Amino acid sequence: MPLTFYAYNAREGGRHVVAGVTRITKHRFPKLAAWRNQPGVASFRRKNEGRLPQRALDVLTCQTENDACLNCNDTTSNTCPPGQACYNLFKRRWSNIFSNNLMIKQTSNNMGYGVFVRTNRTIPRGTWIGEYVGELIPFDPNRVNGSNYEYDFHGNIARVDAVAHGNFLRFVNHACDNNVDSNEYTIGGRLCILFRARRNIVGGQELTLNYGAQFFQPPNLCRCSLLLLPHAARELESDSEEESDED
Ligand SMILES: [Zn+2]
Ligand SMILES: [Zn+2]
Repeated sequence: MPLTFYAYNAREGGRHVVAGVTRITKHRFPKLAAWRNQPGVASFRRKNEGRLPQRALDVLTCQTENDACLNCNDTTSNTCPPGQACYNLFKRRWSNIFSNNLMIKQTSNNMGYGVFVRTNRTIPRGTWIGEYVGELIPFDPNRVNGSNYEYDFHGNIARVDAVAHGNFLRFVNHACDNNVDSNEYTIGGRLCILFRARRNIVGGQELTLNYGAQFFQPPNLCRCSLLLLPHAARELESDSEEESDED
């Protein structure tokens, strides 16, 4: 039986199942995905005697050259020596954060569900909150009406779509003064989209991410609490993730 999400309802007391979403703990890899024509897959095919990616891990390792492993800081090979062990070690940092400190509930500003810190708990600044997982589908530059739960990998190889299958991070809403950041990292030779607390987030507060101004196409405006009126979303700050290409 597929795993489900529960949302808490303070007014009625108790909780209910969130309809239409399956809870997963790692990426799903639909077999029918059309990886054959993905330009970014070429180097993977060269390395693997023409073989196409057969599983999520193959796609996640397609473009990880020269990236230091977040766990062991190894930069000497595409996959750091400990590989999967590094990933498992790092993953422990966020393994119980959701069940111990967070919950899903309806927002008060009509944004549907959101992720909130439980009473008397605090998520300290810098905490790794989790990895954004979903269905791995080939990146398609011509695709226009994607779901609101998509996240593109920088290399434009794949996108993660968590509209139907995902973990709790799919419920994190946008805010212009977001308290959570998301970035791509390499751990154990694989790409990961990780969420991290930008500041201390205390009991009752909602976790929020900045989706970027692009997400809000007119007449779709941001309704976060930063301003009284609906407004254009604040541009994403480009922080340490920007690489300095000098050539
Ligand atoms: Zn490592
Ligand atoms: Zn806003």
